[in-house]
Amino acid sequence: MPNKEKMSPEELRRYRRRVEQRRRERLRVRRNRQILGGFLIIIGVLVVVFGVKTIGKHLPKKSKSNKTKVVQTTKHYETQRIETTEKTSYKVNDKYSKLKTDKLTVCIDPGHGGKDKGHENGDVVESKQMLEMAKQVSDDLSAYGVNVVLTREDDSFLYLNPRSQVANDNKADVFVSLHRNEDTASGDTSGIELYIDKDADKDTTRLATALYKRIKKVSGMDISKTKYGSKVDEDTNYVVIDGVTMPACLIYFGYVSNSSDNQAFAKNMSKYSSAVTEGILTYLLKKQEEENTIKETEEETYDESLLP
Ligand SMILES: [Zn+2]
Repeated sequence: MPNKEKMSPEELRRYRRRVEQRRRERLRVRRNRQILGGFLIIIGVLVVVFGVKTIGKHLPKKSKSNKTKVVQTTKHYETQRIETTEKTSYKVNDKYSKLKTDKLTVCIDPGHGGKDKGHENGDVVESKQMLEMAKQVSDDLSAYGVNVVLTREDDSFLYLNPRSQVANDNKADVFVSLHRNEDTASGDTSGIELYIDKDADKDTTRLATALYKRIKKVSGMDISKTKYGSKVDEDTNYVVIDGVTMPACLIYFGYVSNSSDNQAFAKNMSKYSSAVTEGILTYLLKKQEEENTIKETEEETYDESLLP
């Protein structure tokens, strides 16, 4: 601290000016610190708010699976399509609750594929329609816990024997081949047809009966009685049917050459798929029930009147 009394007036003015400058400098620094502090607080708040929001996106969403919405309830044969927030699934029918599905495998064969489009009529392509239908049946059966194997899962070509091989290799309990039909001579020919092995055993006819009864309930197309063999004759099996070791059925869902069959198929494909699913489940359930009954009575017989 300089001695102010010994200062000349000029020195004293300079001294006071310096003191005043230092004071202002200190004030400026303090103000800047306050501004910087406030700014950092705002940044901090923003980081916290946006940080939490960002982290939130990576946390598992709270499940809303209990809040299911029925989007299709009318006329959908024996099942209801349920839309959940996770994925589309079926409300399983209690009727099949007794079915022990843990060791059951079903093989579904969508006819044709790839360069082999099957029967065609304009936009109607058998190979594509059957793949879509097979996937639907697969989804439906899976909802009941059944293991499902498709002979093809996309629009790829596959010979006939490997299709049977898929079913045999997977030790399937049931094999169902899906097709559309065609009559090049007449657009009037129509309806659904089921074919089974020319020497069909009891299980095969039971499977066909169960499928027949449920498909028949779906309106839209007539259905012919189940036939043995193939379209060629009743003593000639379809290759895919001939090659499998389990009960099997080949189904034609109407004629691509018939416009009302095409309309009915487009409109009811989901119902036909459900009918196939429930025909298969019914056959499997009856078989399990019968096996249990046989263990108890040894004498239980099957109702032959159910045969087509
Ligand atoms: Zn076909």
